[in-house]
Amino acid sequence: MERAEVEVDVVVVGAGVSGLAAARRLADRGIKCVVLEAQDQPGGRLCPREVEGFGKLQFGAQFIHGANTFAYKWHKEHGYNLVAETYPHTLYTKESGFVDLTAAVDDADVNAALDALDALPMLAEEQRHSTDVTQLLSTHLAGLGLNDRATRIVEALLCSDRNCDLTTTRALDCSIAERDWPHGCEDFWMPADDAYVRSLAHGLDVRCGHAVTRVEDHVDKRGAVVTAALTMPYVQQHQHMEQTQKQDHEQHQQQQQQQQKQQEVVFRAKHVLLTCSVAVLQRGLIAFDPPLPAWKQNAIAAVQAGPLMKVFLRFETTFWGNEHSFNTPEGPAPEMWAHQDGVPVMTCFVPARWRQRLLQLDGTDAAMPGSFAADCWDGLILWQRAAVTALLQQLHEMFPREDIVCTRALFFDWGSAPYVHCGYTAPTSTCADRRRLAKSTGRLHFAGEATSVHLDVSMQGAIETGEERADLLCQLLTS
Ligand SMILES: Cc1cc2nc3c(=O)[nH]c(=O)nc-3n(C[C@H](O)[C@H](O)[C@H](O)COP(=O)(O)OP(=O)(O)OC[C@H]3O[C@@H](n4cnc5c(N)ncnc54)[C@H](O)[C@@H]3O)c2cc1C
Repeated sequence: MERAEVEVDVVVVGAGVSGLAAARRLADRGIKCVVLEAQDQPGGRLCPREVEGFGKLQFGAQFIHGANTFAYKWHKEHGYNLVAETYPHTLYTKESGFVDLTAAVDDADVNAALDALDALPMLAEEQRHSTDVTQLLSTHLAGLGLNDRATRIVEALLCSDRNCDLTTTRALDCSIAERDWPHGCEDFWMPADDAYVRSLAHGLDVRCGHAVTRVEDHVDKRGAVVTAALTMPYVQQHQHMEQTQKQDHEQHQQQQQQQQKQQEVVFRAKHVLLTCSVAVLQRGLIAFDPPLPAWKQNAIAAVQAGPLMKVFLRFETTFWGNEHSFNTPEGPAPEMWAHQDGVPVMTCFVPARWRQRLLQLDGTDAAMPGSFAADCWDGLILWQRAAVTALLQQLHEMFPREDIVCTRALFFDWGSAPYVHCGYTAPTSTCADRRRLAKSTGRLHFAGEATSVHLDVSMQGAIETGEERADLLCQLLTS
């Protein structure tokens, strides 16, 4: 086994937006740092990719939340025409068809659901000083006397976006997330090219294909020691993932780990900043020596990161008119987005329990839709065939037209994506848990979206935590 030793001031683990923002700030202050990234490209959950037959896809973050954000300002400065989207905009229900939520609504259940959502900030105020941290949204809705349909509408409008479901969502934290967001209330479509990620990484010492497996932080040593295994490139991993779709996730992960080359690089640093997702920490994919203290382990366990899947469906032509964003309490995907650029691709957003339902589908009887690419159908495992069938049924119900012809499907499951294993964190834990997750222990520091105490589970929240921790490290290193 080859062992090299590299000495730096700070090792940043993870080249998602949080790690890159931290490294940029450190580098700007003359601090020597290296960013170790397990995948073959930086970006993490900001993941634009060009895929044959689909064009440019955004596997990860889809919207820029607010004009007062780094992403918005960067794109504007670089000449992008950012398209605004009102959320939620168009709701589909069996009973009322499409309802424009930005105008007056003639549907009592929809109005009751919207009123319940409006009442959340008030509920948050009432609960703010409550010691009962289990106040769940479902209890609140039951108290308001919402019927089943109105409750499902709330779930489709609020929980799906928060990547959780009614029985686990804490009303208080949802509301804090809404109310305390200082970056502007307009949403904008995130361009699906990698220019923004490349600019964040530009000039930094980012070492892709380095999966950190072990972090040692002994007080008597002259620095923390970080061991990284060199991985096979992510693209190969992804192709491999598609080829091995027929195996279950666990088997696939084990195979990947075995396929990692047995070559390791050892880094010594004055400080280590971990920005990987909380799901990576929960799975114990990084070993800590000595083990993390109990309070930190409890915080890691408490912050829940919901799994999330995107399914991209390619059609022969567009059939959705002028709207691009649809919510629905019916069917397997509570949100669907049509592509902005006229390409006939629909993104189905499948979070939390909706994802679980798709994974459990039995597709033995699923028939290939007309005009579907045979090689693509052959490459789908049974639940994926059933999922395509169910999603198309949903679309046929929403758009009762003869000419909806799907030609390909692509699944990207963040719940099983290597080195991420989740979509983003959900308002199911308390802010105190996130604070503990963010708190340093010895020479180890923590950033990333799950540590954002305002529950801003977004690119912006992730970037801010990276910058805040970098400021702390600058102080520690220069004092
Ligand atoms: C489907 C989806 C939709 C989303 N939609 C939006 C949206 O519309 N708007 C929005 O603002 N946000 C959205 N988000 C959330 C946003 O993408 C994340 O909050 C943000 O990108 C998280 O950045 P991060 O740097 O904290 O974490 P990550 O992006 O997860 O970065 C962590 C990095 O660490 C790496 N890593 C993990 N383990 C190791 C290891 N052992 N060694 C080395 N490297 C490792 C990972 O490969 C990864 O690159 C969405 C996310 C998903 C998945």
